Amino acid sequence: MNKLIPFNKPRISKREIENIKKLNIKSNFSGNGEFTKQCASWLVENTKCKEALLVKSCTAALEMCAILLDIKHKDEIIMPSYTFVSTANAFAMRGGCPVFVDIDKKTLCIDPNKIEKNINKNTKAIVVVHYAGVSPNMNQILKIAKKYNLYIIEDAAHGILCNYKKKALGSIGDLATISFHETKNIHCGEGGALLINNPKFIKKARIIKDKGTNRDDFNKNIVKKYTWVNIGSSYNLSEINSSILIEQLKRSKETINNRMKIWRLYHKELKQLETLKKLIRPDIPKYSKINGHIYYIIVDKKKRLKLINYLKKSKIISTFHYVPLHNSPFALKSYKTIKRLNNTEDISETIVRLPFYNEIKQKNVIYITKKIKQFFNEEN
Ligand SMILES: *Cc1c(COP(=O)(O)O)cnc(C)c1O
Repeated sequence: MNKLIPFNKPRISKREIENIKKLNIKSNFSGNGEFTKQCASWLVENTKCKEALLVKSCTAALEMCAILLDIKHKDEIIMPSYTFVSTANAFAMRGGCPVFVDIDKKTLCIDPNKIEKNINKNTKAIVVVHYAGVSPNMNQILKIAKKYNLYIIEDAAHGILCNYKKKALGSIGDLATISFHETKNIHCGEGGALLINNPKFIKKARIIKDKGTNRDDFNKNIVKKYTWVNIGSSYNLSEINSSILIEQLKRSKETINNRMKIWRLYHKELKQLETLKKLIRPDIPKYSKINGHIYYIIVDKKKRLKLINYLKKSKIISTFHYVPLHNSPFALKSYKTIKRLNNTEDISETIVRLPFYNEIKQKNVIYITKKIKQFFNEEN
């Protein structure tokens, strides 16, 4: 019998562990230290954003976005329903109302053609989620945002080192968020970043990150004592996490090249099944450069669970996500005007995510795709 092929396996090497040892645990290792500064510089350099703040999670960065935009009761934020809960929750926490828009079946991102009819006088922002490192047509969304004077936030949790028309994801909206959770390509267990492109948010973001205080000015000797100047919270990433993250960032291009090899192998091996109309493979737009975060297939609704169980019998763990937000228990209870979102519901019932991690072997990928072929042969 083969060994279990898990769905995900976070990569951690000796170098990260060596780095933790370099920390001066006897003195300071809270946050904002040398490793954190190095991570921030790396992000600015590699995404060309104006400022990068290292925070505890992508969720924390999204919460900071909602505070930065001063979201209040009745404010509406346009976003996909096909996303992780934090995208909506961050705004809901401030009393804002998420307005869920359907996705495009090719990109699995918010459909730019369906945004405009959801805009009204209460709309404050558009949140785009770059699913699997693919973005929606950003030029179209930028035009809409300009026309109606709306902010754009990029949830680039999956998007590190991905591009839209040669621009880094995370450098296009007013604000962007990245995740360094262990399920993502580049990780430090738990972590995230807020990327700022609209300079008017930089100062306030530092305050929000530091419990609503002007401690940053104090550290720079601009003020003699620091005090409470805004709402905020404790969002700093600890130096322990940053010491791990910096090593991962330094080797991120290598990591992503490796992951893209896995991605391309899946894509090649599953081509024939697509030709036979047994499944649909990801269709990456020409404007996108991706990072091999996810490999998914779309299958017949009635066959999905059978396929997942079939693979499980061969010790292959596949999974699905997202469970849509627009018809979730919380949304149904909190937001009255919930409509159907056909593409979102279809995709969430037909998508299968295949095992994907740095150390997965080529022979494992071949084995997985062989099992998928067998499934469709037997099923017919
Ligand atoms: C993973 C993820 C998040 C949350 O990231 P954390 O760092 O775990 O808070 C948010 N949005 C999307 C799209 C994600 O995939």
